[in-house]
Amino acid sequence: MCNSAASVRHPYAVGETPQAYREPEETGEAQAADGGEGGDGARRRRKGTYPPLPEPLPVPVIDNHTHFDFSEGPAVSLGDALDAAEAAGVRGAVQVGTDLASSRFTAEVVEQDARLLGAVALHPNDAPLLAGAGTLDDALEEIERLAAGPRIRALGETGLDYFRTGEGGRGSQLTSFRRHIDIAKRLGKALQIHDRDAHDDVVATLLADGAPDRVVLHCFSGDAGLARICNEQGWYMSFAGTVTFRNAENLREALLVADPSLVLTETDAPFLTPHPFRGRPNAAYLVPYTVRAMAGFLEADLDSLCARLTANTEAVYGTWDRPGEPGKHRPVAGVADHT
Ligand SMILES: [Zn+2]
Repeated sequence: MCNSAASVRHPYAVGETPQAYREPEETGEAQAADGGEGGDGARRRRKGTYPPLPEPLPVPVIDNHTHFDFSEGPAVSLGDALDAAEAAGVRGAVQVGTDLASSRFTAEVVEQDARLLGAVALHPNDAPLLAGAGTLDDALEEIERLAAGPRIRALGETGLDYFRTGEGGRGSQLTSFRRHIDIAKRLGKALQIHDRDAHDDVVATLLADGAPDRVVLHCFSGDAGLARICNEQGWYMSFAGTVTFRNAENLREALLVADPSLVLTETDAPFLTPHPFRGRPNAAYLVPYTVRAMAGFLEADLDSLCARLTANTEAVYGTWDRPGEPGKHRPVAGVADHT
């Protein structure tokens, strides 16, 4: 069964890149500036172009981690980006801040479009820089002020990153992570965790300090063992395009182990574009490639998986529609476990 037609408001052709995401030369508005067709210039442009619009999902889902303020291609307006996403069956998103500028941006745009909720934080790789400059405390105070907004539903992305930050920066990174945990608990917000090569210390810190009620491991990068810990603790696992990568067998094993009521999906756009478009820029309208792959790995019914993902996402962040705007989006129906 496919009831996608009713949810699609914008007539982009499946298999074509939405207009707003096309480079000028693709739309015939500009001449190729370098190289001829088939030359290095053309190859570079192809690599940098956005992938085509997928077949829309039969039941709308939500991208729970994306960065509309980071652009790897043409500057796309927020409304166009959300329209393209909606046409693909992605009816909303969590816009995520990583520093003061992007957290301020987040706080502003969540008030402009009902399809957006927000998360604000200082990225773990920024914490040592801010601490070194003596501005970490002030920055955290501003994050807490921004986090109080009614449409900011999470502190994130925060956490630990041992891939980019060396030993010397880990103390301030941990301090910043613990402060975000504390703010999330005091404000009753969810926590979106960035965990890169730091699984053990992320888990230990959450257990030692006491985790907020709703914890999301964004771009889940653990194995089945970490998925079991998340199941025990009731922590959500958000699967990104990485789960489709050929060499990501550990993520697929984790997905199979994960409690279906704790699974979310995201793009982390413009990064981590799903297979077969790895290396090209990512965007919220590309979520269906990841969700269809997840349904395949799980041997799950796609409608049920989509409904489950949306229900899980709203269990973490609350609902997207503003009061007074009933019926803008279709209700979630047919929620069922995908195992
Ligand atoms: Zn991110």
